[in-house]
Amino acid sequence: AKWVYAFGGGFAEGGLADRDLIGGKGAGLAEMSALGLPVPPGFTLSTEIGRLYLASGHVFPDGLADEVDGALAAVGRIAGRRFGDARDPLLVSVRSGAAVSMPGMMDTVLNLGLNDETVEGLARVSGDRRFAFDSYRRFIQMYGHVVLGLDHGLFEEKLEDYKLARGLVLDGELAAEDWQAVSDLFKGLVIEETDAAFPQAPTAQLWGAIRAVISSWNNPRAVAYRRMNAIAGDAGTAVTVQAMVFGNLGETSATGVAFTRNPSTGEKILWGEFLPNAQGEDVVAGTRTPQDLTERARQETGSEAASLESLMPEAFAAFSAVADRLERHHRDMLDLEFTIERGRLWMLQVRPAKRTIRAALRSAVEMAGEGLISRAEAVARIEPRTLDQLLHPTIDPENGADLFARGLPASPGAASGAVVFTPDEAELARTQGRKVILVRVETSPEDVHGMHAARGILTTRGGMTSHAAVVARGMGKPCVSGAGGIRVDFKAGTMTAGGRTIRRGDTITIDGGTGQVLIGAVPLREPELSGDFATLMRWADDFRTLKIRTNVDTPADARAARSFGAEGIGLCRTEHMFFDQRRIAVVREMILAETPAARADALARLLPMQRTDFASLFEIMSGLPVTVRLLDPPLHEFLPTGDAEIEELSAAMGIPPARIRARSEALAEANPMLGHRGVRLAISFPEIVEMQIRAILEAALDVGEASGRPVELEIMVPLVASKAELDLIYQRIRAAEAQVVRLHGRAPRYELGTMIELPRAALAAGDLARSASFFSFGTNDLTQTTFGISRDDAAPFLNAYLALGLMPSDPFATLDETGVGELIRIATERGRAVRPGLKIGVCGEHGGDPASIRFFAGLDFDYVSCSPFRVPVARLAAAQAAL
Ligand code: ADP
Ligand code: MG
Ligand code: MG
Repeated sequence: AKWVYAFGGGFAEGGLADRDLIGGKGAGLAEMSALGLPVPPGFTLSTEIGRLYLASGHVFPDGLADEVDGALAAVGRIAGRRFGDARDPLLVSVRSGAAVSMPGMMDTVLNLGLNDETVEGLARVSGDRRFAFDSYRRFIQMYGHVVLGLDHGLFEEKLEDYKLARGLVLDGELAAEDWQAVSDLFKGLVIEETDAAFPQAPTAQLWGAIRAVISSWNNPRAVAYRRMNAIAGDAGTAVTVQAMVFGNLGETSATGVAFTRNPSTGEKILWGEFLPNAQGEDVVAGTRTPQDLTERARQETGSEAASLESLMPEAFAAFSAVADRLERHHRDMLDLEFTIERGRLWMLQVRPAKRTIRAALRSAVEMAGEGLISRAEAVARIEPRTLDQLLHPTIDPENGADLFARGLPASPGAASGAVVFTPDEAELARTQGRKVILVRVETSPEDVHGMHAARGILTTRGGMTSHAAVVARGMGKPCVSGAGGIRVDFKAGTMTAGGRTIRRGDTITIDGGTGQVLIGAVPLREPELSGDFATLMRWADDFRTLKIRTNVDTPADARAARSFGAEGIGLCRTEHMFFDQRRIAVVREMILAETPAARADALARLLPMQRTDFASLFEIMSGLPVTVRLLDPPLHEFLPTGDAEIEELSAAMGIPPARIRARSEALAEANPMLGHRGVRLAISFPEIVEMQIRAILEAALDVGEASGRPVELEIMVPLVASKAELDLIYQRIRAAEAQVVRLHGRAPRYELGTMIELPRAALAAGDLARSASFFSFGTNDLTQTTFGISRDDAAPFLNAYLALGLMPSDPFATLDETGVGELIRIATERGRAVRPGLKIGVCGEHGGDPASIRFFAGLDFDYVSCSPFRVPVARLAAAQAAL
């Protein structure tokens, strides 16, 4: 078997297509190497080794050691030095790299191969003793942490003590002897903590690091990250062993990270940060404030520190050229890691950049404009769910807000909430339904659960590529980072800036688009859906065949949905109009009525109200189809249950409390979900249907006449199981229509359809299609009734099912294709067999879920209908389903 894949010196085994085999990092390095870009030589142990090692109880297959030895010797030949050579040692990094990017979640060890002898060799060859011992102490700490499991804090304490004792403040003030002394202290610490000396043999170090890096696949933060991002747990990581290059070799050396376009806005400009005379994690750790790459960025941030462009113009030019070449090669916006060793550029990582949705849209649209990608690719590149973030509000600039402090605009969107200082507080607040802003000095992977729970994140340290910024952008959460003017006092639970103090629990607003931190809850402004968003959506619309409608019952929602591009209403739940504050009293009278005459009286008062409701929806949706569903919920839902509420209603209506209670009890059901609702209600209370139909038809007539455009009206009946039910209701609808004709001389055109939300209806679809001219799948109820699970009561056990992997995903969020989907397929086939032009749509939650939309598109549905804010998501998902 082959387990080790080499790269370097303009050559590589494997490339971008081999991510599953050698991990994203290994694949990127191999590809860059094959392109002839400057990449330190190395090799990658395949993900298969990672899997074998973890599955076998930590043993490596026979023959691996030989492969590694051979590959290491080859690296030495390219690099011109040998691993373990005391005079001129080859040092390596041992890096994790899974097929799916999990930034910063797993471990890496740098400067491996150093020991008491080789460090002297490194000092001689480099001519820089300070650098050699700086590297050595870094290595002992990193190895001590990653491989030996010691806490970082222990090493940092030792270093602090050392500095304190000598009156030193900055790391830069430490000389060679100091770092040598610190190395000794660190080695002493290892003995104290592990009862064993720091391993000196380079080969033992190498295998120790390889084992630790593979095992870091299962560290708690990696596991948590995978759970949050739905990444499979059994893929394992590859391990890349790579010759070290040194960004800490004096002032002509540096290390940095960069994006080929601005990851917040998508603007085409090289964008990133670097630190001179630094190594590896220094930039992302947030311990030193990084400097800007370009002069333009420096001017914009107003930073005093020189840009890379001005400090090392040649290396910068080389890097710009490489970045450009890589972007054209990958045809995507990239995230790059590089190091400059004594003026010479080395590339250490390339991967597709994490980006905000704004940046994703802008870069996709511009790349299509540049001819780098096609419009179809641009459309395919946007993750439909992320469009949600665009619908985030921003701070209304008209408002005289009270500025508390300013930081970096690390992740766009604005949010208000109460201040909390720990991730656990944030999590607790979420369970209590409170909105909070998580404030930290800087964040680490241990804070991620709190970041998830918070509405927004504020840090006082760290740049735009700090942990907080990167993770927040990934989550689509507002984040302000590096607000250096704020001092946090965790003990006191306060933060201060400019002489003012904010306490835990006080409300603040952060704007991750501008970096502002404001006192109080500031009014927010709704987003503008123009520009790149509109362009990309237009392209998407060109590809899709599925129509996107919306589920709305109020004029405000209908207007919003239309602005998001809805092509009609697929579900208008008339009961939501009944629930209206002003109407509920009349509705209750209707329900409590004891004689047909009393009920008729209440309904007569409801009629004009319903008519107005429908009229405004028809006006807003002018020219587009509107599907109205007849009343669905059980009547007892409209009646109060508590004594206090019953008293109140009794006083208001002049009906004795006992009667209200009795009626309420008479209507109560053990299983309301399976009870007296939907078509069943229409069968026992014909006068409700009659009123609703009159209201709908009269409204359609009015609006059609006033606008000169007939309303495209569809009426559907909920919870139907049989053709007999449907026929009875249709007969009543026709009767009500006749009444409208009698009153007004005519009635508008309309279509009659049915919902399919019971398994029986799905199976009897052929029968139903003889009467119904359209089907609308109510997938929420169909999922409930197919699984026999009540959605309202499901959370406790459904979560256990999901945790145990008994279900791939929540069937109420993503359609269960095996069971519910099969019923839908059957119903679709049987319905169309009877009525070839049968119109078919979906109006459950699943109508806004990308994976489910793909399924419906596959069945050639006419439309899906979803909540207004999901409309853009559905438009894009439908386009992607058609590509
Ligand atoms: P992560 O997946 O957490 O980004 P990496 O394996 O990319 O971990 O390593 C982190 C950092 O260590 C890199 O960004 C780079 O700066 C540094 N590094 C890794 N390998 C080398 C190397 N061979 N030479 C110099 N620096 C390295
Ligand atoms: Mg990296
Ligand atoms: Mg339903």
